[in-house]
Amino acid sequence: MATTEPRIDLTRLLKVRRTGSKVVAQCPACHAAGNDRSGEHFYLNAATGKWGCGCLPGDTEHRREIFRLIGIRGERRPDPERDRRWRLERDAERRRQAVEKSLADAAARARAGIIARHLWSLAQVRESSPQRIDSPLVESDPCHFLSSLFSKGDVVWTGEVFHSGSNHADHWRTVADWHDAPTVGPMVSPATWKPGSTRRTADSVLASPFVVLDFDGLPGATPRTSAEIRQHVEESLAVAKWIRDDLHWRLAAIIWTGGKSIHAWFISPPTAALQSLRLTAAALGIDSGLIGRPEHPCRLPGQRHPKTGNMSRVIWLQEFSPPNQTKI
Ligand SMILES: [Zn+2]
Repeated sequence: MATTEPRIDLTRLLKVRRTGSKVVAQCPACHAAGNDRSGEHFYLNAATGKWGCGCLPGDTEHRREIFRLIGIRGERRPDPERDRRWRLERDAERRRQAVEKSLADAAARARAGIIARHLWSLAQVRESSPQRIDSPLVESDPCHFLSSLFSKGDVVWTGEVFHSGSNHADHWRTVADWHDAPTVGPMVSPATWKPGSTRRTADSVLASPFVVLDFDGLPGATPRTSAEIRQHVEESLAVAKWIRDDLHWRLAAIIWTGGKSIHAWFISPPTAALQSLRLTAAALGIDSGLIGRPEHPCRLPGQRHPKTGNMSRVIWLQEFSPPNQTKI
């Protein structure tokens, strides 16, 4: 049993943020596995020396891996090659952050102009929907929504966020089978799944025909009053229209979640377009954490919002019988 915390080389951490003696940074072990891109898992208390990964706190093997990567060990042999690689990665990371910041700043400055040029009221959105939003079928039937976006034979997940794992296998069905299921929703993922999938994780995703943009608002400016929410929704719709008209992404659906947010479903654009939107998303009031995460759940129409009690509703929906765009 170690009586003192094995020490960490702070200079090797990436994406470091300090508040007093608390340090949060990218977990090197998670990062090596392709995770923790936003740099939130690793924590260290500089006063006590306690550290760990907030994502896998009880995993001793993970902890060992972190120490192997950035721990200070008295007898650690010098390894110039490893140090050189680490410096290269750190410098690349700094350059990437500088580019991301300047892109985000530009997007923040451009946002007001985008909104002014692309104003799109709720009434105009509903009016311009290819499927008329004048029946409960189009506005709030989750199965009709699935059939409008996916092909009959596509395997789609619906359920609660926690419906993942082998005892939840019945949450993966073909679109045709969802029509006969006793319950649907309340959430869906904008993905199709490999046959036999039982875990709602990225490695089970077969294809990502859509990207869903969650307009959750600008950082630190949560809309609260109904006037603020209305303004937020209309600004979000304007940004969605700009993405459709000026960036030429193909809009598939817009859902009002019943809370303060709208979800715009776009047919997945090329990866580079997705990547550049991810960098500017936060400045545009879009939750960047969901972009490129097709396994992530979002609300189906006709579902009660847990906080407001409002029903989620379709406000814009592409033609029924779309061409099959779900093939890889
Ligand atoms: Zn970790």
